[in-house]
Amino acid sequence: MKIAVCPGSFDPVTLGHKDIIERAAELFDRVIVLVMTNSVKSSMFSTSERLRLLKKCVKGDNIEFDTYDGLLVDYARKNGAVAIVKGLRAVSDFDYEFQQALTNQSLFPEIETVFLTAKGKNMFLSSSMVKEVCRLNGDISGFVPAEILDDVITRCKGEVNND
Ligand code: ADP
Repeated sequence: MKIAVCPGSFDPVTLGHKDIIERAAELFDRVIVLVMTNSVKSSMFSTSERLRLLKKCVKGDNIEFDTYDGLLVDYARKNGAVAIVKGLRAVSDFDYEFQQALTNQSLFPEIETVFLTAKGKNMFLSSSMVKEVCRLNGDISGFVPAEILDDVITRCKGEVNND
């Protein structure tokens, strides 16, 4: 069984993330979507919110979810993953992603980093852009999955969502 990990901060999940995860699920037997909690980026959504939103809009028989605050390659090794799947938007992603991939390769040579090309329509999409547009009352319905649209709007506008 070929297992892949799709790591990210998913703060919040966008249509770009969803596309990469679902395409990874076509290529691998099992995909673990891993919400990384040790990011240097400060997050708007808590780890449990990010996980809840992902589970609400990303579905698939072979897709699972988890959170982790350690080294990605350690998680991959412990869970028998053969690949880390990342999405590449533009040349701007490349330097950072390539550096990460080479670091992971040096720490755990058996793991492959697989880059999937972002869909043209998602090339400009990022979680930070979604939060910024939403905060300024812009329409984000084309950027996040419909199932989580209300949650994101509520949260971005500073209201606490306790459901
Ligand atoms: P962001 O870069 O939006 O803060 P993450 O850190 O959560 O997102 O990224 C997780 C993974 O999803 C990374 O591999 C990133 O390149 C990928 N990704 C993010 N946005 C998109 C998008 N619009 N299209 C394809 N892949 C994306």
